[in-house]
Amino acid sequence: MRLLITGGAGFIGSHLAELCIREKAEVWIIDDLSTGSLDNIQSLLPHPNFHFVKGTVLDREAMVTLVGTCDIVLHLAAAVGVKLVIDQPLESMHTNIFGTELTLELADKFRKKVFITSTSEIYGCNDKVPLSEDDYRIYGSTTIARWSYAGSKAMDEFLALAYAKVKGLPVVIARLFNTVGPRQTGRYGMVIPRFVRQALQGEPITVYGDGRQTRSFTYVGDVVRAIFALIQEPKAVGEIFNIGGDHEITIADLAQRVKRLTGSASKIRLVPYEEAYEQGFEDMRRRVPNTGKIKSLIDFQNRLSIDEILCRVIDSERQSLGRTPTSAAHEAAAN
Ligand code: UDP
Repeated sequence: MRLLITGGAGFIGSHLAELCIREKAEVWIIDDLSTGSLDNIQSLLPHPNFHFVKGTVLDREAMVTLVGTCDIVLHLAAAVGVKLVIDQPLESMHTNIFGTELTLELADKFRKKVFITSTSEIYGCNDKVPLSEDDYRIYGSTTIARWSYAGSKAMDEFLALAYAKVKGLPVVIARLFNTVGPRQTGRYGMVIPRFVRQALQGEPITVYGDGRQTRSFTYVGDVVRAIFALIQEPKAVGEIFNIGGDHEITIADLAQRVKRLTGSASKIRLVPYEEAYEQGFEDMRRRVPNTGKIKSLIDFQNRLSIDEILCRVIDSERQSLGRTPTSAAHEAAAN
C-alpha cells in the first residue's frame, strides 16, 4: 500500500507515518515544516519505504506527482491550534481551505481514496454531552477569530462530502477531539504540553478562565490506529467519525494532576481569557465525544488513562529538556 500523508512531519502525522511504516506500507509525506519538524521524523528518514518532500500542500506541481504516485491520501496538513489560528488567521484559513480543495481535486483527478482530518471544533460551542456526528454546530460571530478555524474545517468537510456526492470520490472524514502525546508542542497553545513544560520548569501553570471547562483527551497512538483502520474499512467511505477520549476532565483538575505527577512546586494561576487569547474570546465549556459510531465499525479503544498519557508526555518533555526521564511519574500515577 502506497500512502501519502500531508502534514506528515507534524505531531499526529509523524505518529501516523511510523504506524504505516510498521504496517509495511510505503509512505510519502509532504510537509512545509511550518509547525511540523524534522525532529519528529528523524527515525523514519533512513527507512527505505519512507520518502519526505519538503513543501506545501498548496504547491500544485508537487501534489500532482505525489497524489499520482500513491493509493490513498491521508490529508492532515492544516493550521493547528486555537492560538495559531487567532495569531495568523489569513494564512490558517488559506491552508485549511485551499490546501484541502487542491487535495480533493487531485484525488478526484487520479481517482484515489482520501482521508480528511477534521476536528471537534466543528461543533463550536454546542456543549451537548456527548456530541454525535450529526449534532448541530453552534458558532459565535465572525468577529471572533477562533470561529474561523471551525468555519474553515467545516468548509473542508462540505467540500469532501460534495466531491463524494458529485464525483463519487471515496472520502472518509474523522473529527479528532484533543489528541495528545509525545511530540506535541505547546507553542501553538495546546494545554497538556504547556502545563507539563510549565510544571517541569517551575513556572506558574496557567489555567485559562475558571478552569471548569472540560475536554476528553485521546492518546495519539490510539488516534493513528483508528485512522489506519478507517482507511481500510470499505464501510467508512462517505462517513464522518468522532475520534476522542472516554474520560471528561476539567482543565483545573488537569493542572492538579500535572503538578502531582511531575512533583512540581509550580503554582496554579488562573488567567482571564482576554489576557490569554484576545478580547471577546469564547471557549467551549464541555467537549465530550460520542464514539459509538466508530466503535461499531472498527476496534477503537482508548488504551491509556489520562494519568498514563500525562506520564508519557512528562517523560518525553523531560528528555527534550535534557533531563533523564524517570520512573517517578509512573510511580506517582500508580499511587
Ligand atoms: N488552556 C489553559 N491553559 C493553557 C492552554 C490552554 O487553560 O495554557 C485551556 C484552553 O483555554 C481550553 C483547554 O485548555 O479550555 C484546551 O485547550 P487547547 O488549546 O489544548 O485545545 P482546544 O481549546 O482546541 O480544545
